[in-house]
Amino acid sequence: MAIEYTLAMVKPDAVGKGSTWHIIQDMASSGLKPVAVRMTRLSKEQAKIFYAVHTGKKFFEGLTDFMSSGPIMALVLEGENAIHKYRDLMGATDSKKAAPGTLRQKFGTDVSQNAVHGSDSPENVRREAGFFFSGTELAILGLNIDAIGASAPATAPTAPAAPGAPATPAKH
Ligand code: ADP
Ligand code: MG
Repeated sequence: MAIEYTLAMVKPDAVGKGSTWHIIQDMASSGLKPVAVRMTRLSKEQAKIFYAVHTGKKFFEGLTDFMSSGPIMALVLEGENAIHKYRDLMGATDSKKAAPGTLRQKFGTDVSQNAVHGSDSPENVRREAGFFFSGTELAILGLNIDAIGASAPATAPTAPAAPGAPATPAKH
């Protein structure tokens, strides 16, 4: 099976509870390796852009308030079948309904405060990775934004680029 990438986020509730490192341990146990990591905080405007697909839904205001309420951690994860593997590890959107052992069951609270985010398609991996990481940053880490967003990369990431080497432009 092909090596794939996904974009994961530890949400403000889980960062606030100190669950970040337990979550990363569970990712590693599932064969998902963090290859790019950033701790940051979204502004309300950035949260609205990240979750633009949900604009107009009844939970949009609450979601964007929550997502801008404290620090988050964004990670690019690498692994076989990473998108689906990580969605399985996260569990159902509602932490109250998520299967035992999933991240949302273990570390989340309800349908809103559910501890983690994960991309749901190669196109969204590309968009969401580009939201948090510039092309230059990814190139320095030996990652290529186009390969990250590919549905079935034929090979593992290319050799690390030298710092300062030409890179794909940032998407944000
Ligand atoms: P997922 O994160 O599982 O892909 P969605 O894309 O449907 O789920 O929703 C994005 C986020 O919006 C969820 O992770 C959750 O934080 C929030 N959310 C979704 N549905 C609701 C809801 N009915 N009420 C409150 N918040 C919600
Ligand atoms: Mg979603």
